[in-house]
Amino acid sequence: MRVWIITLVSLLLFVQQGFAAVKIDGVRVWPAPDHTRIVFDVSSRVEHRIFTLENPGRLVIDISDVAANPRLEALKLPSKLIKRVRHAARNGNDLRVVLDLGEKIKPRSFVLPANKQYGDRLVIDLYPSSQQVAKSKSATVVKDKANQRRNVVVVIDAGHGGEDPGALGPFGIREKTVVLAIAKELQTLFARQAGFDAKMIRSGDYYVGLRSRTERARKMNADILVSIHADAFKSPKAKGASVYTLSSRGASSEAARWLAESENSADLVGGVGGVSLDNKDSMLAGVLLDLSQTASMRASVTTGGQVLSELGRITKLHKRQVEKAGFVVLKSPDIPSILVETGFISNPTEARNLNSKKHQRKLARAIFNGVNKYFSRTPPPGTYLAWQRQQRNQIKEYRIASGDTLSGIAVRNNVTMAQLKKLNRMTSDKLRIGQVIRVPAS
Ligand SMILES: [Zn+2]
Repeated sequence: MRVWIITLVSLLLFVQQGFAAVKIDGVRVWPAPDHTRIVFDVSSRVEHRIFTLENPGRLVIDISDVAANPRLEALKLPSKLIKRVRHAARNGNDLRVVLDLGEKIKPRSFVLPANKQYGDRLVIDLYPSSQQVAKSKSATVVKDKANQRRNVVVVIDAGHGGEDPGALGPFGIREKTVVLAIAKELQTLFARQAGFDAKMIRSGDYYVGLRSRTERARKMNADILVSIHADAFKSPKAKGASVYTLSSRGASSEAARWLAESENSADLVGGVGGVSLDNKDSMLAGVLLDLSQTASMRASVTTGGQVLSELGRITKLHKRQVEKAGFVVLKSPDIPSILVETGFISNPTEARNLNSKKHQRKLARAIFNGVNKYFSRTPPPGTYLAWQRQQRNQIKEYRIASGDTLSGIAVRNNVTMAQLKKLNRMTSDKLRIGQVIRVPAS
């Protein structure tokens, strides 16, 4: 595997505009067998977004508040995938980087905090759309069953709709309209992210019953249900976003209801991680349902916490903790579910924000980040994300070829020479051709 490393030092730049402006100190490209990774070294955590454009295929990377333009032209690229890199300043201090693509890709991006070796980084991974894994010549490729790696299904529920406008704000702003806009932005974000499928409970201005929303989520094999709303209060001063999960009172009354209604119990069979309550005596059924519900509620609270903390970066919070309520839409015993109140539509300032495309995008990005974080850390077994996580944590074997050096292998695998030597219990830097050593599969 050839690795291109181009560290662009001396990008230190003319004017540092503003206190928080980010400097891009270097860029590295790591073509791996199954994806190409582009790493920007940045001076602090960056705000960014990525999206693809077609005809011709391009990947756009927008980075907010960059101190000066880095010289990205110097970047040597794997020519087949990325044909050209362009960049320009945008809206003053923002930087737009455009990669002209040679093939269809599905991008993924995330920020990495500083570690011993590197500072803060912005990472862009380009996966071939087909997600086929090419075999590398020298590295031992771990066997996988590509077709068995399913995507995590995120079901997005825009609250209200149709006859039900939800909360009404000043300036004729309606909850049902803004939450649908946010839901669509959220779906777009998941659609661009490898490892996820995003499905909508409603995609237009029509109403779906509350029970029917949870039923639809189950039919869609949801791994999580994210319901999006906007709050209202009689005082126009109330403000901030909140995240809800099901209260235990709501959960226990719901468990009782499920057990009471045998037709519903049978329905649970189809849920992801669901339990069949058919042919079980009522006590056993109760225990199974309780286990499933406990796991779902735990997942809901964890995801809800991630989403809340992401929301806290971009908007005021109404409550600092995930709240509990008996909302019907949260009541699937076998599907982790969260309800996001994106802000108070009864507050004139927040209503205006909720109605703006820019703020809707920020909200969607925050919800996306929270959910993505949860599933990246705890991917359901059998998913692409689980596979990816496993790959990251794996040690692979590497056969030394002519021209290999220990320092070169270390750089290629994002480890230090000392770590490599320790891993292989080596006392010297000497390698021989054909020797097999262990390297972390990064
Ligand atoms: Zn609502």
